[in-house]
Amino acid sequence: MSEEKHFAAGALVSVLTVQPLDRLLDYRAPEGGCTTGAFVEVPLGPRRVLGVVWGDGQGEYDLARIRPINRVLEAAPMRAEMRAFLSRAAEYTLTPMPAMLRLATRSPGLGDPPSMRRVYARGMGTPDRMTEPRRRVLEVLEEYGGLSFTLRELAELAGTGTGVVKGLVAQGAVEERESPRDTPYPRLDPDLLGMALAPDQEAAAARLRAGAASGEYATTMLRGVTGSGKTEVYLEAVAACLAAGRQALVLLPEIALTAEFLTRVEARFGALPAEWHSGVTMTERRRCWRMVSEGGAQLVVGARSALFLPYRDLGLVVVDEEHDTSYKQEDGVLYSARDMAVLRGAIEGAQVILASATPSLETWANVEAGKYAALTLTSRFGEADMPQMRAIDMRGETLPAGRWISPTLRAAVEARLEQGEQSLLFLNRRGYAPVTLCRACGNQIGCDQCDARMVEHRFLKRLVCHQCGATKPVPEACPSCGVEGKLAAVGPGVERMAEEAAELFPDARIEVLSSDMYSSARALKARIAAIAEGEADVIVGTQLVAKGHNFPLLTLVGVIDADLGLQGSDLRAAERTFQLMRQVAGRAGRSERRGEALLQTFQPEHSVIRAILTGDEEGFWRAEAAERRAAGVPPYGRMAGIVLSARDVQAAFDLGTKMARGDGPLRRIGAQVYGPAPAPIARIRGRHRVRLLVKAEKAAPLQAALSDWLLQFPVRGDLRISVDIDPQSF
Ligand code: ADP
Ligand code: ZN
Repeated sequence: MSEEKHFAAGALVSVLTVQPLDRLLDYRAPEGGCTTGAFVEVPLGPRRVLGVVWGDGQGEYDLARIRPINRVLEAAPMRAEMRAFLSRAAEYTLTPMPAMLRLATRSPGLGDPPSMRRVYARGMGTPDRMTEPRRRVLEVLEEYGGLSFTLRELAELAGTGTGVVKGLVAQGAVEERESPRDTPYPRLDPDLLGMALAPDQEAAAARLRAGAASGEYATTMLRGVTGSGKTEVYLEAVAACLAAGRQALVLLPEIALTAEFLTRVEARFGALPAEWHSGVTMTERRRCWRMVSEGGAQLVVGARSALFLPYRDLGLVVVDEEHDTSYKQEDGVLYSARDMAVLRGAIEGAQVILASATPSLETWANVEAGKYAALTLTSRFGEADMPQMRAIDMRGETLPAGRWISPTLRAAVEARLEQGEQSLLFLNRRGYAPVTLCRACGNQIGCDQCDARMVEHRFLKRLVCHQCGATKPVPEACPSCGVEGKLAAVGPGVERMAEEAAELFPDARIEVLSSDMYSSARALKARIAAIAEGEADVIVGTQLVAKGHNFPLLTLVGVIDADLGLQGSDLRAAERTFQLMRQVAGRAGRSERRGEALLQTFQPEHSVIRAILTGDEEGFWRAEAAERRAAGVPPYGRMAGIVLSARDVQAAFDLGTKMARGDGPLRRIGAQVYGPAPAPIARIRGRHRVRLLVKAEKAAPLQAALSDWLLQFPVRGDLRISVDIDPQSF
């Protein structure tokens, strides 16, 4: 790890900036000097940009022309551990360093937290002349009154230049003040008593407490069915970490889960922690960034990007529901939050806890290889057990066309209604119907921008593309043949299931829980809380409900189509289906009442369906591991996806073919290249995507070979190359 060093005024230093350049830039230390890690503002062409002092200058350029750093920002310097983390993460994901620095210093809507900010407010004066841009600035101040912005943020929000704001300040129409300092978060008290733990919980907690107090790195898989008390156990590790004076981070896969978790933190530690995710205001996120850096935040609860916050002393990272696919960032810098948590933990000397009812095969493999420790909670906390699981063989059920709730499932729901208990009908498909088909010509309405079909959403009264988000109204006539009144909704979505449920159970209160039905995370949270208290009889939901929400009155889960995830050629399909089905089933019977899960399937003898029903997790993983090992794919081999995108599909294919031929550096490490083939998402927002898959042995130096290989293919025009290490689908 590089040493901290002080540079006297005028000394040559190298600076990493947020601008997408492929090298560090040399500057002169400013008056008063600077140290490695200092956040600085540097001149770059006509602009001023954010950077971090990285080390000695290289002196490769004309020394006379090297410019001084404008100023050292007020934030605490970036620690050597954080710099090492960014470098290693960049190497692992093959991401340029400036992009890593952007991850560490901002998130959408947040300016540069290291900069001192000002507060602007409507002043007493009036501008000599009211122009359109000036009016917009004043409007923004009215709308966001009380929030603090940097000059640039304010100008950006008003869609104008900083000169306009400065002009208004000069005329007294806008007042500029130094912002008040951010305030630390209320102190969490690790000494407050937690719950009395069950024996298996206590045994696991003791191990984790010892780990957290050791000040050393270790990763532990914490496994136990939903409701077995994992959260309670890892909160004990958080307590030990806080008691040792270090900071803790808990990652959750879904913002909607935060509310319930915050309540538990407050109950356990007497105060609320810091929150970091897209649902948090800019002001609050900036406060979080600064307080994490200064030590005024002991515990952060957040989304994957919280891994890139500047912790002063990180002692524990918990990745809850570690198997969740949303931990893989699929846009911009492509990283797996689980892998990054382990990397950061190793660098910081922190404990990492991977908690899940259905751990990923990657985690299992690391336990097997002796890299991770394993703790298992064997029973559900209290009386409740894993629900009784049964298949409904759909080949033996009579159902009219366009209906999906079998008579058997219907009877089970009716029994729950009589007892005043809740049922969940699970279908992992948003919207009303996945396909809109013209009965006259057979045309299926597709997205204009992608290769995806448009999904009808009756609630929104529009067709929506689930790939790129494009929407259009449902047409009267078929866009292909022009015949009117022949468009038909084909297949079920949750909205349609709700319609069917309403017909079958006319007296029940039916509720659809799907991410697109709620305008904000807050609205969703509120609704989930109300449902948990009994404000619905039948919940119709997508995978949103599978993720850890606690519905105490829920005793029946009906899976509408258990076969859905098993179609397709993805090697991870079995793993995903297994995890999702076990997770969904675990929603039933989380209190004293025993739950039941019914899976509608056309292939009850399928090995994955059987494993789901019997709950033979280890057997399932052994079979799955054997298959992956034989195929040489992760976690027993290494893979990378290289996605080439362009407006012109031929250009993307041509480059792909050229790259596949020039695979020398890859061949040297024994890797194979497959493709080019259309990427899993073959066209999005008008850009065609072509993918090459690279497969190598576990021990091969894949990243180094990949960068050598990619160097041979400079991209031109609108072609873009992105590298996805450990792609989600292969
Ligand atoms: P998991 O994280 O494994 O799903 P939780 O920790 O959320 O499990 O526990 C499930 C439920 O049981 C929660 O409502 C929790 O408050 C309760 N619970 C867990 N452990 C205890 C305990 N030792 N004493 C009392 N209640 C507990
Ligand atoms: Zn689309």
